[in-house]
Amino acid sequence: MTALLEVEDLRVAYGKIEAVKGISFTVEAGEVVTLIGTNGAGKTTTLRTISGLLKPVGGSIRFNGKALRKYRADQIVALGLAHSPEGRHIFPRMTIEDNLRLGAYLRSDKAGIEKDINRAYELFPILGERKKQAAGTLSGGEQQMLAMGRALMSQPKLLMLDEPSMGLSPIMMQKIMATIAELKAQGTTILLVEQNAQAALSLADAGHVMEVGKIVLSGTGSDLLHDESVRKAYLGED
Ligand code: ATP
Repeated sequence: MTALLEVEDLRVAYGKIEAVKGISFTVEAGEVVTLIGTNGAGKTTTLRTISGLLKPVGGSIRFNGKALRKYRADQIVALGLAHSPEGRHIFPRMTIEDNLRLGAYLRSDKAGIEKDINRAYELFPILGERKKQAAGTLSGGEQQMLAMGRALMSQPKLLMLDEPSMGLSPIMMQKIMATIAELKAQGTTILLVEQNAQAALSLADAGHVMEVGKIVLSGTGSDLLHDESVRKAYLGED
């Protein structure tokens, strides 16, 4: 069986600076895979390239059996790949509900869209309670929930989350991680980029540690969580 996402020897550069230097990994359907690593390791660049927002200088990305090179970003969404970006990018003046509806812009099944909006409200009750309010009135954590809810509205085969815990309080972070675990239990396939290695590895089936554009270590979530070098470098142990 081939993997849902296959990244092979991917290279991405900003001008002369190579930010991703030949990385390979796969995501199988139903898995949660995490990329961890410090600032500037190339994690965001990797997700933006998979989404079609950046063009690689080398290597290949296959999603659901198709080589993505020929597809534009909007076509990649239509293939079933959703991206909840770092920094959230919600529309602050639009209502919460309209932000969610934007995530379904490629769909025309009205009944299905209503069902999925209600599903987002079940996952994140605060969004339902405040659906008519401007999204900009939400707290940072709540905006993160909205960004995740919006990404789910495209009914993705693969959901990519870029640093969902960034800037959140510990309680809010726990909520977001619990929701990711719930999505996983429902069978959603997730590629998760996180600086919070402990949280990400705890729920991931597999993880890859990135350093300056390369994958330096790979393993199951629990292997990496117990790996001494990971514990020292990313989990704050000496
Ligand atoms: P972070 O958590 O800080 O986002 P990251 O692992 O996601 O880190 P990237 O954002 O992918 O890392 O950055 C990888 C490298 O590419 C860094 O050295 C960064 O400075 C550089 N870089 C990122 N965006 C640009 C850009 N638009 N132009 C030039 N260099 C960039």
